[in-house]
Amino acid sequence: MDRVDLAVVGGGVIGALIAREAVAAFPGATVAVLERGMVGQGASSRSAGVHFPRGGTERVRSMSAYSQGVWEQLAAELDLPIRTVDATVVSSGDVDAVSPVYVRLGDETVPAGDWAALPGARAWDLDGCHHADVQAVAGRVLAGLRDRVTVLEGTEVTELSSDGEYHRLALGPGRELLARRVVLAPGPWIAHPAWVELVAPLGLRVKKVVATHLEGAPAPGDPLVVFHDEDAFLLPLHERGHYLFSYTCDRWDVTPEDVGPVLEPSDLDDARAVLGRFAPGLVDRCTSGRVFCDAYSPHREPVVAELLPGLVFAGAANGSGYRLAPAIAAETVAALDLTPTGSTSPLLQRQT
Ligand SMILES: Cc1cc2nc3c(=O)[nH]c(=O)nc-3n(C[C@H](O)[C@H](O)[C@H](O)COP(=O)(O)OP(=O)(O)OC[C@H]3O[C@@H](n4cnc5c(N)ncnc54)[C@H](O)[C@@H]3O)c2cc1C
Repeated sequence: MDRVDLAVVGGGVIGALIAREAVAAFPGATVAVLERGMVGQGASSRSAGVHFPRGGTERVRSMSAYSQGVWEQLAAELDLPIRTVDATVVSSGDVDAVSPVYVRLGDETVPAGDWAALPGARAWDLDGCHHADVQAVAGRVLAGLRDRVTVLEGTEVTELSSDGEYHRLALGPGRELLARRVVLAPGPWIAHPAWVELVAPLGLRVKKVVATHLEGAPAPGDPLVVFHDEDAFLLPLHERGHYLFSYTCDRWDVTPEDVGPVLEPSDLDDARAVLGRFAPGLVDRCTSGRVFCDAYSPHREPVVAELLPGLVFAGAANGSGYRLAPAIAAETVAALDLTPTGSTSPLLQRQT
């Protein structure tokens, strides 16, 4: 039977960053990423990939600042599809009310473009923002690790059990893997039968996430506009030739199988209603979009939690799993002891 020091279940952006962090911290460790489909094709494939230096709590602000540094470094090292973008934040609160949420606010700015701040709201420049093709980022991070990490795609973990020293992962009929440590990074697949009971005490829920697309190319230099009060943003996607509008969809307790890839008419109606408040001229251009779901935690901070000795859950980043992935990965690997014991053998890719 094959054995590894660490099995990472889930090849999304969070699983990819955890694998990278694990081999950086423990260069001798044997690591496998187990992905049911293809790398990056879960929630990561639908992500708007926006990073802003933002956080509703001190821990999230600190994770956001840490992650920004890692993304900037990795973007240069791995030539990742990450694009910096000028940004404006609009809020009805004053600077004091907004600044605890946003790490760096610049000068007060004069709104320009197709949107207008609501009466009484003000707008400020916001430094440090970028957006990414998250599916491609996950793929490229793992591509750079292939000499050190075994990536098994099309491989579903169907059962999990523990016998003290090792965790046993069933990988479909007749195939098993023993792992000293396991990280579950399943994105919104928190209710998989293999771990639903283990994860239940965390109190996670899955929410639908929607971002609509607006017909028509953005003008050069158009900024990302963050509407703080509405928890919405308007992102120019020059490389795709359209705007993306993200708003807060309030549909809870869905499953990845429920939401599928297709927008419901009510998704467009809801997006248009929010967009119409500050950009009525754009409403008719809001004609399509992307939809999926994400795992949310009760306290709205990402979860890194040891569920059994040596078995850690990582994720539930509340719709911010791209921008916080490096910090989630660092916390996860800090919670694992991967010091080689000499009792493991490299993963052999064969049927047992
Ligand atoms: C429309 C939309 C817009 C978003 N915009 C942003 C944004 O602007 N900024 C931001 O930071 N975040 C954003 N997010 C959230 C972000 O995309 C997610 O938080 C992030 O992608 C989660 O990454 P993950 O690796 O945990 O999950 P996933 O990418 O879903 O990866 C989990 C993987 O686990 C695999 N898996 C599940 N079960 C098994 C099993 N039994 N065996 C093997 N593999 C399994 C799945 O196939 C999947 O590939 C957005 C999300 C959506 C849907």
